[in-house]
Amino acid sequence: MDISVVVPLYNEAESLPELHAWIERVMNENGFTYEIIFVNDGSTDASWRIIEELSQKSESVKGIKFRRNYGKSPALYCGFKRAQGDVVITMDADLQDSPDEIPELYRMITQEGYDLVSGYKQKRYDPLSKTIPTKLFNATARKVSGIHNLHDFNCGLKAYRKEVVKNIEVYGEMHRYIPYLAKNAGFSKIGEKVVHHQARKFGKTKFGGWNRFFNGYLDLISLWFLSRFGLKPMHVFGLLGSIMFFLGFVAVVGVGADKLYSLHHGMPYRLVTDSPYFYLALTMMIIGTQLFLAGFLGELISRNSAERNNYQIEKEI
Ligand code: UDP
Ligand code: MG
Repeated sequence: MDISVVVPLYNEAESLPELHAWIERVMNENGFTYEIIFVNDGSTDASWRIIEELSQKSESVKGIKFRRNYGKSPALYCGFKRAQGDVVITMDADLQDSPDEIPELYRMITQEGYDLVSGYKQKRYDPLSKTIPTKLFNATARKVSGIHNLHDFNCGLKAYRKEVVKNIEVYGEMHRYIPYLAKNAGFSKIGEKVVHHQARKFGKTKFGGWNRFFNGYLDLISLWFLSRFGLKPMHVFGLLGSIMFFLGFVAVVGVGADKLYSLHHGMPYRLVTDSPYFYLALTMMIIGTQLFLAGFLGELISRNSAERNNYQIEKEI
């Protein structure tokens, strides 16, 4: 099978028939063998009934139905597990992404050798409240991930070599960082294609809340941390802890030496607690020990985690 199209959707009933017809037309015009996997993420409208109807009419339509709404990432995860095509294409259900891009995306993966091609909505049809924060978000994501050639991390329209989707784990809200996940798994040929974008035709956006920025950045930080230190937590915490402890220790020695010196020379009687260094030393040594301990516990946990030997083996003979 050439292509699997994975479509995560949440309450998009109005768009589905049109989207399906459009994808089908593009596939037939280009002679692709394909499947369309609709992942119904706990929709409360008629979406699932429509998917059932579509799958009765056409055997290339497959559906996964979540019992409740989990989010876009879990939907993609399950779609990826099910996908069988050599190239996997993800696409939003709201008709904002155009299926006409599929042939070119397919060509870039199969002929130009890309592992992942992300759509780039150069001209967006979204409200300003969405586009401006998105610019900021993308700049940060580029910097942190080191994938400097991507303008649009979060575009729903992306194409992957099958191996990529089988070897990454999209969870939480990580669908915004799939290129970064792919890069961390060792798939380095990541490209971009300018795609057409349209205003939402039916319904409204599911990602309008302000909290998405906050959560988005927290996700980016944990991803960065996991990829840098996930397997060796001691290297961060141990180092920080040791530095703290050392500084604290120096302060203690300073305070002690000062006390002894004053005693010896019969200077006016002074308590060690009068010195600010006493408190600094106290805090630093305690925090230093705690950090060191955190690193050590982290090591123990990572040694026991099921992921510890989850290495990406590309080939075996
Ligand atoms: N979506 C989903 N689960 C959710 C939220 C959204 O599967 O909990 C789907 C949604 O139906 C759409 C895609 O993810 O197909 C992108 O969502 P949306 O168009 O609302 O995001 P935007 O384009 O506004 O960023
Ligand atoms: Mg949309």
